[in-house]
Amino acid sequence: MTRATRTCPICGKPRLAEHTPFCSTRCRDRDLLQWLDGGYALPGPAPDPMGDPDAIEGLHDRGQNDD
Ligand SMILES: [Zn+2]
Repeated sequence: MTRATRTCPICGKPRLAEHTPFCSTRCRDRDLLQWLDGGYALPGPAPDPMGDPDAIEGLHDRGQNDD
């Protein structure tokens, strides 16, 4: 595994751990401003991963092993 030098995504300088992933608070602020300027849109409500409980009503456990 090669440990590539991580650079600041804003200015490309080597970033500092205390400001990761940026090199300085200035770049961090710039990134934040880019977000705000881009008018970040929150996605709508996430679909329920479980789906509609009634939709799985037809599922029943088949405990038989066709051995
Ligand atoms: Zn930077």
